[in-house]
Amino acid sequence: MQWVVLVLVLSISGSIVNVFGEAMMINRCCNERLANSSTKPYPGVSSDSGRFKIALFADLHYGENSWTDWGPAQDVKSEIVMSRILDAEKPDFVVFLGDVVTANNIAIRNASLYWEKALSPARNRGISLASVFGNHDDMAFEWPSDWFSSSGIPDLVCSEENNMCSSCSFEGTSRSQLMINEIENNNLSYSRCGPSDLLPGVSNYVLPVHHSCQTNNDSPPLVLLYFLDSGGGSYPEIISNAQVNWFRTQSSHLNPKMSIPELVFWHIPSLAYKKVAPPTSSQQDRLFSGGNRKHCVGSINYETVDPQETELGIMDLLSSRPSVKAVFVGHNHGLDWCCPWRNLWLCFARHTGYGGYGNWARGARMIQITEDPFSLSSWIRMEDDTSHSHIYFDGKAFDGMQLISDLGIHHVLSKFWLHFCVITTLDVASSNSQNQIYGF
Ligand SMILES: [Zn+2]
Repeated sequence: MQWVVLVLVLSISGSIVNVFGEAMMINRCCNERLANSSTKPYPGVSSDSGRFKIALFADLHYGENSWTDWGPAQDVKSEIVMSRILDAEKPDFVVFLGDVVTANNIAIRNASLYWEKALSPARNRGISLASVFGNHDDMAFEWPSDWFSSSGIPDLVCSEENNMCSSCSFEGTSRSQLMINEIENNNLSYSRCGPSDLLPGVSNYVLPVHHSCQTNNDSPPLVLLYFLDSGGGSYPEIISNAQVNWFRTQSSHLNPKMSIPELVFWHIPSLAYKKVAPPTSSQQDRLFSGGNRKHCVGSINYETVDPQETELGIMDLLSSRPSVKAVFVGHNHGLDWCCPWRNLWLCFARHTGYGGYGNWARGARMIQITEDPFSLSSWIRMEDDTSHSHIYFDGKAFDGMQLISDLGIHHVLSKFWLHFCVITTLDVASSNSQNQIYGF
């Protein structure tokens, strides 16, 4: 048994070197291909509606338990969730916010087959999209214990996607390869492989959103969307110093006067999320003895924040820019709040997929940008077609009362205060009391 482990360790450490070298080559290759082919205009505000609406699909976890009946059935349910939300909201853009697949459950050579399935509800409706990586997207296959026969030898069970066992793969599909496949298979994708010097992070890129009157990519955009790879899977859960420097360079080049509003997307919450998190049920006492989270807006707060491993400067940089209005993450399936932190908002998306842990109702965070007058707002659309947690971002994050008057959201005052109650006094509500939370 020991030599098996030793061989495994040696082959894994060898493959890290190879994978990294290979990834650098693939990234360069990907970007060269894109440089030649990517002339399409940036997405923009529709002149008919005067708005640009984004749906965030977080933690779909396609391919989970792919060798059972249960797993593929969850993927079908996830497709229904996305389809309902897309048909109800008719967004202009979809962001896939990481953990698109559960790669550690996928025993085929190319996990992009599942990735493609996850993107298909948006693609089939002709909706443009972009993605960032989560911690599960490039994980190596983890051998399920129930695959071991009584002899101790694993039964080789491959997904139905394979008709030949020789196509089983236990190494995972690299981030770069997943991204290349997405871009090459989807004309609607605005994802990018990111600069090679940010490896092993891959999904690092900026996407400008046009004004409705803009006809080319040269004039200043209405909003800038930044996508960052927060790691996990094949490397630590961090946003590196190199990524921080890249963000600084990009933002000072694209938005030197900080006059263009900026939104930021990655998968794993930073440590700042832990600092602003409303108390969960086990911390309820703190709520009444100085816990000051009354200005958070959300409907579920059922777990503690599971943050990145360390903080290397990205949050200080973001908060030094008044143009940065909000950060959006997934990863924690039992949280869907937005809380103010310094001069911006820290928001969770909403668990969209039936894959992944947790039985909370599924939904998606929506973001809406209007052009005239300019506004930035967000809410959560549920699978059952209800919506909740409406919030406006285009103002400073003050405490609850000031927030309402400063942001002019008196028309949703009652809803806001209900959420205020939900997040501060009902955050201990059990999962079966969600009707109470959404009952407005
Ligand atoms: Zn997840």
